[in-house]
Amino acid sequence: METTQKLAILADAAKYDASCASSGTSQRDSVGGKGIGSTEGSGICHSYAPDGRCISLLKILLTNFCTYDCLYCVNRVSSNVPRARFSVDEVVQLTLSFYRRNCIEGLFLSSGIIQSPDYTMERVVEVARVLREEHDFRGYIHLKTIPDASPELLARAGRYADRLSINIELPTVQGLEALAPEKDSAAIKRSMARLRLHIDNASGEARDAAKTSVISLPGSSVRRAAAPRFAPAGQSTQMIVGADSANDRTILQASTLLYSAYRMRRVYYSAFSPIPDASSSLPLRQPPLMREHRLYQADWLIRFYGFAHDEIVAPPVCGTDGTDTSSGMLALDIDPKLAWALAHRAQFPVDLNRAPREMLLRVPGLGVKAVVRILAARRVRQLRADDLLRLHVPLKKVLPFVLVADHHPGATLDAAHLAASLSPAPAQRGLFDEPEQLTAPAPAARPHTAKLPDFSGPPARIAPADTAPLPTAHSQPHRAPWEAGFEDERHSVWA
Ligand code: SF4
Repeated sequence: METTQKLAILADAAKYDASCASSGTSQRDSVGGKGIGSTEGSGICHSYAPDGRCISLLKILLTNFCTYDCLYCVNRVSSNVPRARFSVDEVVQLTLSFYRRNCIEGLFLSSGIIQSPDYTMERVVEVARVLREEHDFRGYIHLKTIPDASPELLARAGRYADRLSINIELPTVQGLEALAPEKDSAAIKRSMARLRLHIDNASGEARDAAKTSVISLPGSSVRRAAAPRFAPAGQSTQMIVGADSANDRTILQASTLLYSAYRMRRVYYSAFSPIPDASSSLPLRQPPLMREHRLYQADWLIRFYGFAHDEIVAPPVCGTDGTDTSSGMLALDIDPKLAWALAHRAQFPVDLNRAPREMLLRVPGLGVKAVVRILAARRVRQLRADDLLRLHVPLKKVLPFVLVADHHPGATLDAAHLAASLSPAPAQRGLFDEPEQLTAPAPAARPHTAKLPDFSGPPARIAPADTAPLPTAHSQPHRAPWEAGFEDERHSVWA
């Protein structure tokens, strides 16, 4: 079979795996003419998720032959799909040639299980070894590991890969047993624990090495001891959403465990895609993509905003027969942070001039960066609504929940229609629409109440700074597109 035909089959077979991202690894490049590749910058996206999302890695399987029969997988042994298999050298040459033509920024390599987990894993690791050791490849490598592979192979994989991942696939052991009978949830957890141990050891040794200065010869420059390298971008995993009956509460509970017990860098949520010749145990339709999106938002709240998973989804409600009668699902029409704020209105309004960071992070519309800017700005002056505008805070979303020197939300916070007013119906944007103007409402239009704090004292502790421009988003250093993602809510999934 021609390499291009194999590529068509094996790249298509890999599209169901969403768990790849090249940020977060150590920075390498080929400056000075050494080696090939770079983990910085971006390439052209050439892989597509089933829903059309673009992923900028050469994302392929070594083979889509598989001896397992996971019901949700298009590559399972009982699936009637064209099969192909790459040799180690073919994958190496493809990666190098795509990289040289600036088509990719790295490799994501997975595989169906052939002969045995060790046999398969050996070949996956060999691709990474040849790229790194024989071709001095400095681009990004993400290897999907086979859970039952031997610990030695996992340890070798970490030496060459930037990121390793083992898919947990389903949030519950029962779900995995029902849909992937050959997979052993205990083996998956064991492998995750081993990876965590290796990653922790490598970072500990890197810390020790950083403290040690090595002088090789008298008069030569001071050099640091080289630290051992083990998957510097950590480990990640993927959960399929909507293939079984697990609700969002169960999924977030599983994610919390994965983050804390195995120190996952990311848990990816992949909405189940119906596959050809699917088993009758699987749903006929995929869940709404918005469900996957809400799970990512909830995941972000847990990792960066101090929320516990059981705060985000309403707790179970016991019916008369003792079963849980709640849906355990996130709302699809509003984001989970806004949903939490609306359900906890007694904790608002938050005084932006006095509240601790933890509470500022709970205000809908305030991202981590915006909170940092607010904390810096309020050291030198009492914040007013106009200042928030200069700090690039989305006023419409934030003002109903906050107090500033010249604004109190008053009855707005208790209004029944608040949720509807903050989540307008989605509308298709025109190609030539003007960008939305972020203007502060006129002060007179906002309700003031007797509870307004007394701001009659001196407006600033440091007078000259009062007239100085506040730090704005534009004063921040330029960030690469993948860094500018979620933490600033105006540009993020929260918007
Ligand atoms: S082991 Fe992996 S490739 Fe094989 S059927 Fe299961 S999910 Fe698919």
